[in-house]
Amino acid sequence: MTSNYLKLQFYSLPRNQAFARDAVAAFCLELNPSLSALSDVKTAVSEAVTNCTVHAYRGNLGIVTVECEIEGKELHIKVSDTGKGIPDISKAVQPFFTTLPSDERSGMGFTIMQTFMDEFSVNSIQGEGTVVYMSKSFEAEVENA
Ligand code: ATP
Ligand code: MG
Repeated sequence: MTSNYLKLQFYSLPRNQAFARDAVAAFCLELNPSLSALSDVKTAVSEAVTNCTVHAYRGNLGIVTVECEIEGKELHIKVSDTGKGIPDISKAVQPFFTTLPSDERSGMGFTIMQTFMDEFSVNSIQGEGTVVYMSKSFEAEVENA
């Protein structure tokens, strides 16, 4: 069984979103992902990191932490911030729920993460921060490639 670990920490600048998603994609290449699985992971990471920039720190500079772990054929991802936190998680994960004006955000980030990944959960404490956990299995990747 192979295992591997990656931890990235960076400022919550919009330009770091592409960096984070490409770094995670490069990290999971050892799992021989199909292009479609790779694209799912990149999209999910982008959504989680964008949320840190626009919601957790609301344009102020903060630190975003992305941790990835490969365990056999599973990729586990944790995206954490120490920003404002989410008061009602069950509401926040509903499709189309957003606390920003709807011409800015569509409220679909968490729904996208849930749809594109196999496992998804959110933990948050108001005033302390948020942790998004996601995982994906690459078990059948050779057949799907
Ligand atoms: P979209 O992702 O479609 O641009 P959105 O970011 O509002 O819109 P989601 O990503 O689903 O939609 O997030 C839903 C809501 O959860 C946000 O509007 C925000 O209130 C809250 N939220 C999400 N991530 C965080 C976070 N890291 N810190 C604080 N609040 C968050
Ligand atoms: Mg979002």
